[in-house]
Amino acid sequence: MIEEELKKLGDLYARMDEEYGRLSAVYGLTCRDCGENCCSQRFYHHTIAEYLYLLEGLKAAPDELKQTIVTRARIVVESYSHELQAGEIFKLMCPVNFDGLCALYSWRPMICRLHGLPHFFIMPDGVRKTGGGCHRLKGEGKGTASMDRTPFYKELAGIEKSLRQQRGFNERFRKTTAQMIMEMSLELDFDEI
Ligand code: SF4
Repeated sequence: MIEEELKKLGDLYARMDEEYGRLSAVYGLTCRDCGENCCSQRFYHHTIAEYLYLLEGLKAAPDELKQTIVTRARIVVESYSHELQAGEIFKLMCPVNFDGLCALYSWRPMICRLHGLPHFFIMPDGVRKTGGGCHRLKGEGKGTASMDRTPFYKELAGIEKSLRQQRGFNERFRKTTAQMIMEMSLELDFDEI
């Protein structure tokens, strides 16, 4: 059942949030008063599991908010097509971000939950990949505490596999939140106001 897999994903997200909270406290990391907003970075999402979870959030949103998000997503996706011509990647705010805050916070994708902390993960071939954290990192844990994303990625891969089997989907998935929202708007069949 798709609902069961989405419930598993909700549990997984809760554990990610918990681990993020624990480690960000070690570093003394907070987003408060930061002049930048990570939601303007170009994040790509790679699973239909995250897509379906975010879709639940969009469905639950009030109609006016839903329509505004779709309108904003359309503008962002249209902007992508002008990048080649301009020869640069535009810095575009995620269409779900309103006044610095995520309007679909409980349903946000994985990278929105994990971004900002130093991390590592072990690839299926055993290769260890690492990533740095936010420039604001400070505190005693700096350089020593790093989030192990491996179990999270593995669990998400299991949920993804099950969902793909259930939906008969076997294509590569790589979309920004704006692109996912545009696809959702077709699935939900509502028009821009
Ligand atoms: S989905 Fe939410 S948290 Fe993720 S980039 Fe968009 S506004 Fe930010």
